[in-house]
Amino acid sequence: MHDIIRLLPDSVANQIAAGEVIQRPASAVKELLENAIDAGATSIKLVIKDSGKTLIQLVDNGCGMSMTDARMSFERHATSKIKSASDLFAIKSLGFRGEALASIAAIAQVELKTKRVEDELGSLIIIEGSKVIDQQPTQCANGTSIAIKNLFFNVPARRNFLKSNQVETRHIIDEFTRVAMVNSSISLSMHHNEKAVFQFNNSTLKQRISGLLGANFSQRLIPVEQDTESIKVYGFIGKPEFARKTRGEQFFFANNRFIKHPYLHHSIDAAFQELLPKDAFPSYIIFIEVDPKTIDINIHPTKTEVNFQNNKVLYAILRAAVRQSLGKFCITPSLDFEMEQSLNFTDPPEGKVIKSPIIATNPNYNPFDSQTKRPVKPFTKPKATNWESLYAEQAPTANDDKLTNGITNEQKKITPEQESPEEIAEVINERIFQFKNRYIVTVVSSGLMIIDQSLAHERILFERFSNMLENNKSSSQQELFPETLTFSASDAEIINDIKDELGIIGFAIKSMTKNTFVVTGRPADLSDLNLRDALEGIIENYHKNLLELNLNKKINLAKSMAANIAIKAGILLKNEEINAMVDALFACKVPTVSPSGKAVFSIISMDELAKKFN
Ligand code: ADP
Ligand code: MG
Repeated sequence: MHDIIRLLPDSVANQIAAGEVIQRPASAVKELLENAIDAGATSIKLVIKDSGKTLIQLVDNGCGMSMTDARMSFERHATSKIKSASDLFAIKSLGFRGEALASIAAIAQVELKTKRVEDELGSLIIIEGSKVIDQQPTQCANGTSIAIKNLFFNVPARRNFLKSNQVETRHIIDEFTRVAMVNSSISLSMHHNEKAVFQFNNSTLKQRISGLLGANFSQRLIPVEQDTESIKVYGFIGKPEFARKTRGEQFFFANNRFIKHPYLHHSIDAAFQELLPKDAFPSYIIFIEVDPKTIDINIHPTKTEVNFQNNKVLYAILRAAVRQSLGKFCITPSLDFEMEQSLNFTDPPEGKVIKSPIIATNPNYNPFDSQTKRPVKPFTKPKATNWESLYAEQAPTANDDKLTNGITNEQKKITPEQESPEEIAEVINERIFQFKNRYIVTVVSSGLMIIDQSLAHERILFERFSNMLENNKSSSQQELFPETLTFSASDAEIINDIKDELGIIGFAIKSMTKNTFVVTGRPADLSDLNLRDALEGIIENYHKNLLELNLNKKINLAKSMAANIAIKAGILLKNEEINAMVDALFACKVPTVSPSGKAVFSIISMDELAKKFN
């Protein structure tokens, strides 16, 4: 038999390697951004089309390449950043594997224009699926411009594997955010489908954080700083009272590289201990500087984990630093971040008159007019009541499916025993009270019914919102003073995506500038709502559901809204509110389970009670 082992052609080897390095458009964005930073660029422009699926273009003013280097840069294991294995232990650049451009060129159509300051002419290289199509001298600006077209054009399986445009854009924004955060002195912009998503001049770290995560966000931060001989730690942590329910803004950077580090994450968690509710996550943006010799980044091209030689020391330093800041800044509120920020305002240009802000009001608004008055009853009873379908079988009907979405059959097993709904509804109205500002207790013929007020309200709101979204029926209550809210670019993306649906539910939102919106109306009955908190919560929940549950837009929105707006435990309810809530709950299609799959109420049967006294 003949020998059968042969070396793979470079183009095939590159395509295989590309599978590891470039998993989605965001991975290519990350590699290009890092190359530009390594090239010493002070200005970087990123242009994306169709979430990077058709175009990713990066223009930098870095050192550029000679014609030979330009051609070499697409070879596998071709790098200017390390020479020998020993260099691996003192890496100062972001790249060093020499794999990115070779991988990208194997699976896309790439056009590279590059010129060094000292050269008269630049170079143009066009390369497609690892094949050089064109190579010639060209007139171009100093620096490098690289356009990646039709990513995965020759690997349809990969292309089909990509997620929705929204998800892919989100990944790109995440990568951009990580690079922009740690390079605040670099001018950076990102355009998507011809619209500016980010535009930053060189700025301070604080300004950069505001630009990336929203001005509001940076106001919630307190500084952290700790300098030792071998380790420097600095950055910001979120004030405990603003901790989020979902793992939101958590950033570690080690020697200017974004990293993930569960062990260090734990040290921050530990520092926050007791200051946060159980289900809340601290926000942090922490920069760590150590001797490059003491850090191992040589793990995997797309992974962000690194190893520190002094893991334990770092853990202790970080925890102490965070603890110290928490003590200093949370007990002394006068040392507030907001105050520092006000120092950033610049004087108006000479001779320029400052106009006072114009506040739009509705001159016809009369709070005593019954037409415009806010309704007193907090819970509106949905019209449709379908008791049969509720109790006839455990599995919901097709129609109910959308109302129980996300709930497993396992979770659906909680049924109110033999009690008929009419019976429950009848008895319920007789004796009913709130217990510990958390439960509603009432007597039903089979025993004692205990309703969780928050879960009940979540169910009521969820059905109400999904009905509105299904039937396109909106009801909104005009804001007396429209509120202007600014969000981070990624949150603004989500708002733009669901603005119409939010409108149906009652949040009348208009775009002002890229990330700023004016809210002119809110859902009727929700006059006590803090608009910013509610919208932020909804966005976070919506985003999480999008990634984890793949819910359809309407169900996702209804779920996110309900979870955020529902009254929480600890709120005292008036008698008429308790009654209205119970009425509304039992008018729901699925009163037994909350949209998140928890039992809304529990019945302690007479038998169970009797047993307790035996
Ligand atoms: P790595 O970054 O790991 O070295 P890449 O494949 O990303 O590998 O790039 C290969 C080489 O091409 C780099 O080492 C660098 O010399 C050069 N290069 C890539 N992008 C740029 C750029 N934007 N400006 C200047 N040189 C670049
Ligand atoms: Mg690189």
